[in-house]
Amino acid sequence: MCLDLAADRRPRDLCDEQVELLYAQAPLGVVASLLIAPLLVLTLWNALPRTILIGWLLALEATVLIRLALIAAFRRRAVPDTAAGRWITRYTWACAASGVCWGGCVVLLAFSPSLVHDAFIALILGGVLMGGVFTMSSVLRAYVAYALPLGLPPVLWLLLRDDPIRVAMGVAGVLYLLLALATAQRFHRTLAHSLRLATENLNLAQSRARAKEQAEATNQRLADQQAALRDSVAAMRQLYEVISVPRRHARDRIQAMLAMGCQRFGLTIGILCHIDGERYQVVHVLAPGGEVAEGDTLALGDTYCQDTVRAQTAVGFEHASSGPWRQHPCYRKFGLEAYLGVPVRVSDQLYGTLNFSDFKPRTTPFTAADRELIQIMAQWVGGVLEQERMAEAARRQQALLAHASRLNTLGEMASSLVHEINQPVTAIALYAEAGLTRARNEALGVAEARDALEKIAAQGARAQAIIHRIRHFARQTKPQYTVVRLNDVFEDIADFLNLEARRHRIDLRYDIAPDLPRVLADALQVQQVILNLVRNAMDAMSAATEPEAGAVVAISARADSREVKIAVQDSGPGLAPDALACLPQLFFTTKPDGLGLGLSISQSIVEAHGGRLWATPNAGPGVTFHFTLPAAAVSTHAAEPLSLDAD
Ligand code: ADP
Repeated sequence: MCLDLAADRRPRDLCDEQVELLYAQAPLGVVASLLIAPLLVLTLWNALPRTILIGWLLALEATVLIRLALIAAFRRRAVPDTAAGRWITRYTWACAASGVCWGGCVVLLAFSPSLVHDAFIALILGGVLMGGVFTMSSVLRAYVAYALPLGLPPVLWLLLRDDPIRVAMGVAGVLYLLLALATAQRFHRTLAHSLRLATENLNLAQSRARAKEQAEATNQRLADQQAALRDSVAAMRQLYEVISVPRRHARDRIQAMLAMGCQRFGLTIGILCHIDGERYQVVHVLAPGGEVAEGDTLALGDTYCQDTVRAQTAVGFEHASSGPWRQHPCYRKFGLEAYLGVPVRVSDQLYGTLNFSDFKPRTTPFTAADRELIQIMAQWVGGVLEQERMAEAARRQQALLAHASRLNTLGEMASSLVHEINQPVTAIALYAEAGLTRARNEALGVAEARDALEKIAAQGARAQAIIHRIRHFARQTKPQYTVVRLNDVFEDIADFLNLEARRHRIDLRYDIAPDLPRVLADALQVQQVILNLVRNAMDAMSAATEPEAGAVVAISARADSREVKIAVQDSGPGLAPDALACLPQLFFTTKPDGLGLGLSISQSIVEAHGGRLWATPNAGPGVTFHFTLPAAAVSTHAAEPLSLDAD
């Protein structure tokens, strides 16, 4: 009995095994009946009426044929079969029919001419009775249904004879019948026991096979989950490596993110685009083949990003031409095979998309970790853009404040400036007056007139230079960072500084190293810081007492390879230690008409240039304000604003 464990997963029971065994042994009984019955008929052919013999034989062989048909049908049945009980019942009826026919031998006994013939018939019946024990007792009721109609009629017939030998044969027949039934019962129990063991073994093997399969499936699932987890960890590590490297420029940070995405997703093109209505504009791009460049614009409908924006989540496919994406305008126009994109939001508003693509199909599908990763990347990029917008707004605000502060300074210097302009204007008027008088008296020679005009022109140029400086200082511009020579910066602001020095009657001393390194700076803003510090120093010294002869403000500038250090030292009243500690403080002022903005603005300017500003008390009277500016070669200030076309 061979069972395919994979084919039949139903737990098998005793009934299944019994029916299998019953039908497996049935052909033996059928063959025996087919041979023995004709032998009996042939033996009795001349001794008994032939019609009776033939009728009996036909009836018996008909039951044998029924059993054969059942055996054939059983073999053709569908496996697995749940109708074991029905197959047993059918065969039991067939056995009963066979038993009845064999029991019909009682008719042959009735026509038997001699005791020898009776004995032969009884011998045959005993044989088939015992043979059935082996072929039918796997199902006891089949054997009982066979044995009782087979044994009882001949035994009863013999017992009812007057002949003591025939009665003895009947008694022996009863004993044989009982013996056969008892043997069948024992045989059945033994078979049932071993079948039960076999069934249990089989079921055990089946459940072991099932458990093994389940364990393998669980192992596979765990292995898949582990691989996915490892993949996610690797993705997170890559992301961390990119975002943990300090980069001051938003542009560099986004480029690094694009490079990481291209490497991670195995795609060659990485783009951060801005979407405005139906317009798709490339803001940052990584495309080694130069297929697309920053600033390129496209119709949104010609890009896969339209679908990404509609989906509001990550959209990706590996092989456009092998699926519905081949109908997409983007595929038809550009032939991009692989794509992974996700919307980018800035301040909760759609900004555009972060997307990666390739003209070559991707051989492996995007994983859940890939989609998760690109979502995180997009959030990070959105954060960078938002920070940059805020920084840009702060820069604009600072520029406005700086401008307001410059106007305020000019307002405060107004009387000195008017005085400064007035001097050349007065001189011009005097030269013109004198020249005119001489001309009216016709005493003005050509040489004298040329001399007067030259003086007037010189004074005019002087007045113009002052007005030019005022206009230059007062103009409102966006910060313009260029590489400048600090010596030139000092030269440009010297007029204003000297003016203030004259107004306060303070001696202004310069100690500027001749070969200061160049710095990357907005010259106007640096001048503004110097002017603020010098005016504060002079204000402090003037406010303390009447300026004494010898009051000095010293400006010095020194440099090393990394930075330039500028100091403004006064000998005024200085600052109390607690005021010194919290300088610069917005709106802190001790001046009656002060705003308390100068130092704060100076500090924000210096810091925007990558330097710092601080004050130290002097050993003697007064205080020194210092600020630094990084030399151009090492300057890493964040002055270059990121171009946010959405703004
Ligand atoms: P404002 O000049 O409008 O007062 P600032 O921010 O330039 O605003 O200065 C803030 C305050 O710091 C001044 O009012 C003054 O009290 C103090 N200060 C600044 N520079 C000096 C200095 N060189 N000596 C003494 N005090 C100073």
